[in-house]
Amino acid sequence: MRDPRYDVLFEPVKIGPLTAKNRFYQVPHCNGGGYRDPTAAAEMRRVKSEGGWGVIFTEQVEIHHSSEITPFIELRIWDEDDMPGLARMADAIHSNGALAGIELAYSGTNGPNLYTREVPMGPMHSPILTFTSDPVQARAMDKEDIRNLRHWHRLAYRRAKRAGYDIMCLYGAHGFGILQHFLSRRTNQRGDEYGGSLENRARLLKELLSDARDEVGDACAVAVRLSLDEMAGEQGFSNAELRDLIGLHAELPDIWDFAHGTWEACSGTSRFKPEGAQEDLIRGIKQLTSKPVVGVGRFTSPDLMVRQIKQGILDFIGAARPSIADPFLPNKIDEGRVEDIRECIGCNICVTGDMTQSLSRCTQNSSFMEEWRKGWHPERMKPAASARKILVVGAGPTGLSAAHRLGLRGYEVALSETSTELGGRVARECRLPGLSAWGRVRDYRQGQIEKMANVAVYRESKLAADDVFDLGFSDVAIATGSTWRRDGVARYHTLPINIAAGMPLFTPDDVMDGKLPAGHVMIYDDDHYYMGSVLAELLIAKGCRVSFVTPSTKIAEWSVNTLEQGQIQRRLLELGVEVRTSHAVVEVGAGSVILACAYTGRLGEISCDGVLLVTARLPDDSLYTDLMAQKAKWADSGIETVKAIGDAQAPAAIAWATYAGHRYAEEFDTPDIGDALPFKREVAGLKN
Ligand code: ADP
Ligand code: SF4
Repeated sequence: MRDPRYDVLFEPVKIGPLTAKNRFYQVPHCNGGGYRDPTAAAEMRRVKSEGGWGVIFTEQVEIHHSSEITPFIELRIWDEDDMPGLARMADAIHSNGALAGIELAYSGTNGPNLYTREVPMGPMHSPILTFTSDPVQARAMDKEDIRNLRHWHRLAYRRAKRAGYDIMCLYGAHGFGILQHFLSRRTNQRGDEYGGSLENRARLLKELLSDARDEVGDACAVAVRLSLDEMAGEQGFSNAELRDLIGLHAELPDIWDFAHGTWEACSGTSRFKPEGAQEDLIRGIKQLTSKPVVGVGRFTSPDLMVRQIKQGILDFIGAARPSIADPFLPNKIDEGRVEDIRECIGCNICVTGDMTQSLSRCTQNSSFMEEWRKGWHPERMKPAASARKILVVGAGPTGLSAAHRLGLRGYEVALSETSTELGGRVARECRLPGLSAWGRVRDYRQGQIEKMANVAVYRESKLAADDVFDLGFSDVAIATGSTWRRDGVARYHTLPINIAAGMPLFTPDDVMDGKLPAGHVMIYDDDHYYMGSVLAELLIAKGCRVSFVTPSTKIAEWSVNTLEQGQIQRRLLELGVEVRTSHAVVEVGAGSVILACAYTGRLGEISCDGVLLVTARLPDDSLYTDLMAQKAKWADSGIETVKAIGDAQAPAAIAWATYAGHRYAEEFDTPDIGDALPFKREVAGLKN
């Protein structure tokens, strides 16, 4: 039963001519599937409808072929060919009574048109502003171009309405939509009635919203999504100017939807942004308009949601990542099951799906984007197919996920763990600077398992092969994790390097075990994700002088995909870390290290007191290999299957571990599919 404190979250709220059944508003978010995987994307939204969201949006939908953001994969509403996929998504969203929103985007100065090869257009002549510095410029739009742009929007409104959408939202946030390019003096230096004063810069917004109203009448609501602050200094579209804009056009849209600023700021990771981070920027805006206001903030705490509603900051709780991590967040609050919420950890692995044009995955919700491809569901599993009993060895994210999901299927499961605490690497890493929210990976699964009578947990139970033979389980999942290497092997070196015995040498495992280097420490990062920079922060806090060496041209290169790279490099530079990019450690001496330039091979030497190698990891698979070597003994002990899963099979990021555990449970005790693909996919239809 719902806690009455949360009743306010379940009040119906009017959006123009329509009414949302509650205040949970899934704002647009990418998923790496888009037009390439339309049914996978649609079914992902269907599950959110089932989970109780009042409003559910598409990702950004490109309205016209003259502006697109290849290589990123979103949706399109270019012509009739796009309609079936869009209609399928609208139907899926409606399946449990949510309103279907469509985010209409014309990318302007942000669209390089690498696919359509059209000449991009924006408010003024300008290089295309994207992540990749494409050698392309947008030309300045003339009056006819603006008339065409209005016409193309009208076509999009008509099609979107026909496809079944209820809310037409114009995208002008994150630096990505043309509305923002017109609103900002940084990207609009026109001398005509569309440039100059705020009123002029807002003219296009006013015209597009009025045209939308004209096209959709009372059948649909009209929305606009803007950034609360462009975060581009003096010249950018500031929070103060945004408030002036709302003063000018307070009643123009049926709802105001606010993103934070840049995408990096709006989708800030928990390492850099707390929950509810946009509160100061949005407070008071609701008082400027009679229309409802939606904002975001990686909201997972119902108390914070209620406070922001009751204090008149928001009308709707906007959420992308919290809805990915737990599509059932609204229903869980409604049913009085707050402790069952699978909270987003703010890692942005979901964002990496878009950035790498793959299908997005989520560290917390392994079923994300597998709802249609594999038939997975975030809350339900198919029932057990037999009375088999499973031993899961290791309670890191892999083992916890496997045990939880097998438990949901109804199997009898024993989970054994060497340590007194559960969580494996997550338990250790969540103690590192900025990563405390990552502990939620353990907390959620541990909390669920504790409620299951069919899952038994054995702490301080390090198992060897003989123990496993004695225990008598038919099936054994080995989730024993991995260890950081101490020989320099990763990407730059695929063979061990020379390391003198006299140099104090450390790995991330040592540091997490409390063995800390002192004095001048050289961190050698050939891992390129978060670990090197997080340990640099830790060592600076412990009073070390830190040099950071990496063969890459950037610190934490891969974290471009989690939108963190710029913030990580800024933080390390501000902390006084001595950064040496494009260099590899090639030899470790007793009191110094030999470096080579990654481009020229030119050698140099730096003296230091210790070296911390953040390189590759090796699976802790000795239990697995021992059991495999003694297959002849399996039958006597009743063992039928032994599998290594997660980091014990091949180390990767935590999302891969939770996925591996989930997958083990999904596929356990199911018929062998032979050479068939283990997922469904859609292949483009051929045309002449
Ligand atoms: P993953 O990311 O694949 O879950 P982790 O390294 O996070 O891997 O977790 C592995 C867990 O397995 C650790 O908590 C470790 O203590 C535990 N473990 C390793 N070997 C054994 C063993 N032989 N018996 C029981 N637990 C083990
Ligand atoms: Fe949250 Fe990480 Fe899942 Fe994204 S991948 S929704 S940030 S837990």
